[in-house]
Amino acid sequence: MNAPTKFPTCHDVLTFLDDYVAGELAPDTRATFDRHLSVCPSCVAYLASYRETIAMARAAHRPPTLPTVPPELLAAIRTSIAPGK
Ligand SMILES: [Zn+2]
Repeated sequence: MNAPTKFPTCHDVLTFLDDYVAGELAPDTRATFDRHLSVCPSCVAYLASYRETIAMARAAHRPPTLPTVPPELLAAIRTSIAPGK
């Protein structure tokens, strides 16, 4: 895909947002984006929330770091859920 040569619009920024966040834009395209972001607070805010969403999605897919449950406690829970089994 060709880099936008004119000053990018908000729509242009959103089109390339994935690549921008992934750091996969060509340096000159990235510089054009940075120029837009330096004058467009709404795109900066959108980018921040976009990154936050990605971070939250990654955190949600990370295996939970739960403390180890003692076997006696598991047995007690099983007994209370299904007594007599
Ligand atoms: Zn913008």
